[in-house]
Amino acid sequence: MASIDSIESALASEGFRLTAPRRALVEVMQGLGDHFMADDVVEAAPAVGRATVFRTLRLLQDLGIVCQVVLDDGTAAYRLASGGHHHHLVCSECGAVSDFASGDLEGLLDDIARRTGYRVDAHRLEVYGVCPDCRAREG
Ligand SMILES: [Zn+2]
Ligand SMILES: [Zn+2]
Ligand SMILES: [Zn+2]
Repeated sequence: MASIDSIESALASEGFRLTAPRRALVEVMQGLGDHFMADDVVEAAPAVGRATVFRTLRLLQDLGIVCQVVLDDGTAAYRLASGGHHHHLVCSECGAVSDFASGDLEGLLDDIARRTGYRVDAHRLEVYGVCPDCRAREG
């Protein structure tokens, strides 16, 4: 998980400061587990206004500090990003979210761009399944 220091330098590199409310919200997010909803942050940070929470989530998302993960019921949750381009694995049993990256996958997208003539700006891939812990529990 991204440390406060690395988040502070990521903000600074784009000309933003880790203000007291931003620091408070990041600390709240670190305590909320591997993913959370905007309302979870609002509830856990009663001293920070709702509008500030949403504005901060948007900023942190734009800077790649927070990413969105679409859960298997279609709801979008937030997550502190591990840094760098990555995709998510979502466990359908316990709801755990983890990250993976794949050069092969990104190469496939280059190939799709070549074949279709698209300039690909963004893509999203979430993988749903059963995590190793839940598989071990199931025996
Ligand atoms: Zn992510
Ligand atoms: Zn699981
Ligand atoms: Zn990708």
